[in-house]
Amino acid sequence: MHALQELLALLAPPACVACRRPLTTAGPLLCPACTRALPWLRGPGCPRCGLPRHRRGGCPAAGAAFALAWAPLAYDGVARDLVQALKFRGALPVARLMAAQLAAALPPALRGVDAVVPVPPHPGRRRRRGFDPANTLAGALALRLELPLAPCLSRGGGRRQVGTGVRQRRDPGRLAVRASAPPPSRALLVDDVHTTGATLDACARALRVAGSRWVVAATYARTL
Ligand SMILES: [Zn+2]
Ligand SMILES: [Zn+2]
Repeated sequence: MHALQELLALLAPPACVACRRPLTTAGPLLCPACTRALPWLRGPGCPRCGLPRHRRGGCPAAGAAFALAWAPLAYDGVARDLVQALKFRGALPVARLMAAQLAAALPPALRGVDAVVPVPPHPGRRRRRGFDPANTLAGALALRLELPLAPCLSRGGGRRQVGTGVRQRRDPGRLAVRASAPPPSRALLVDDVHTTGATLDACARALRVAGSRWVVAATYARTL
């Protein structure tokens, strides 16, 4: 599937993955205008939730199971185009570009981890698309950071659970994510977009319940 998509991409004339305008040089995925328009989140944001500033109600990650959450870009404009290209066209080069941008800007506090853990896909979604964007992005980032990839989380019932605790059983909403293999002690959780943080929290909680001591989250883009 991926090999075929990459082959087709080679045969088609090179176009910017964001604006689809033809590229004059092969190699870069983004045209110069789209590269300049990337909505980088600069300056110190909240280290817990990744927002540049809190809305009314304070930090949405105040009670989250992850220690830190960070994203280099706002989920808007060209960053949104790249996320959509990763999600629906399954382009591996797009994942590599996003991983390179993530790795280049990754704060030191998120580097001291043992492995990269992808947010697991919803059951059925991967089968329909034949492609799992979070896993592909996490894999590309793990390569960049020279860390192992630990796809130890799964969603939905039926799988063997590791270290299911009282806390998890008390809250049926959290049962949607579980560890199906022993997790790394210090985990870097990776997803494409951080929206409400509920998925990252459920994943971090599952990792903590299964034995992770430290869970931090990196996403390509943050919904503001
Ligand atoms: Zn462009
Ligand atoms: Zn916050």
